Amino acid sequence: MTEPNHQLLAVRQAVRRTPAYPFTARQGDVKLDQNENPENFPSELRALALERLAARPWNRYPDLHAERLSEKIAAFEDWDPRGVVVHASSSALIKTLVEMSGIGQSVITTNPIFSVYDLESELLGARAVHVPLNEDFSLPVAGLQAALRDGEGGLLVLTEPHAPSGYLDPVADVRAVLESASDRYITVLDEAYHEYAGSDLRELVRGRPQALSLRTFSKAWGLAGLRVGYALTSAELATELRKVVSAFAVNVLSESVLEVALEHPEYVAERVERAIQERERIRAALQGHPRLEVLPSWGNFFLLRAEDAGQVFEHLLSRGILVRPQGGRLAGYLRVSLGTPAENDRLIEALREA
Ligand SMILES: *Cc1c(COP(=O)(O)O)cnc(C)c1O
Repeated sequence: MTEPNHQLLAVRQAVRRTPAYPFTARQGDVKLDQNENPENFPSELRALALERLAARPWNRYPDLHAERLSEKIAAFEDWDPRGVVVHASSSALIKTLVEMSGIGQSVITTNPIFSVYDLESELLGARAVHVPLNEDFSLPVAGLQAALRDGEGGLLVLTEPHAPSGYLDPVADVRAVLESASDRYITVLDEAYHEYAGSDLRELVRGRPQALSLRTFSKAWGLAGLRVGYALTSAELATELRKVVSAFAVNVLSESVLEVALEHPEYVAERVERAIQERERIRAALQGHPRLEVLPSWGNFFLLRAEDAGQVFEHLLSRGILVRPQGGRLAGYLRVSLGTPAENDRLIEALREA
């Protein structure tokens, strides 16, 4: 704990108390620590996007709420465009959701959970309620239902597939939790990795005006550098959410690139297919390892349980391979993103020696 800085008393206590986002940038030529797509946006599409960008007036503001991009996303997702809300990353949307419905209320979610939910709850003064995932990381349906029944209202957050465990729950379990959420809750279904799971919760969101699916261009689309995510929801909830989203948040660079991506989405499925094959290849290759266990995952990453996770982390780092140590309930685990086949070969080789 660092001493409070008395010069900064005007910074709200919640902010001073909150630790900074827990990420240490490190050097390593095999980068498997941020669940990024290991392949850049295809070069032919990059060229098209640059032409599109060059033709745009850079002196003009972009759309107020990325209206043209929302139309394209709506067509791609078969969704009512009035229910599409685009923002500069789904992390920014998470902050917006906590601002809209978490402040002064609660954020009911699981432990563990994607750290941005906890960070924003703490910073903005929302009460975080964590229901522990079951031992196998499946959804604690009864525990969540009890928390919803006793709760004061706010946000209910579920990640499917789950981050950071990679687990995917049966839709029936997700539905059972949703059906227990009263009108006092906005339900966030974070589907950042759904392409890798072949899962899709849009049907649970349709007809539930208080639910939304959160999606991102950072993972399967390979565009983490652009920082764009979106919510699929009802027109009514989208209207409220847009009031909280900053105006002109999606810039002309992102607009230009995403228009091209959405006109040529075929590359995504190809890459996802490859990633799934790689995920299963790594798991098979490390089956029966005496000191390591690869957990099943439905994402573009997996958890690795190790007798001495710190030592495995250092060993991988010494081979130029960067992975992400986990803490809290996941102490003793490393989170590993899928790389290219060549990178995954290096990972497997290094782990066989660990
Ligand atoms: C990676 C990730 C996101 C995506 O975040 P962006 O800010 O859009 O890059 C959202 N939710 C979860 C659970 C994630 O793991």
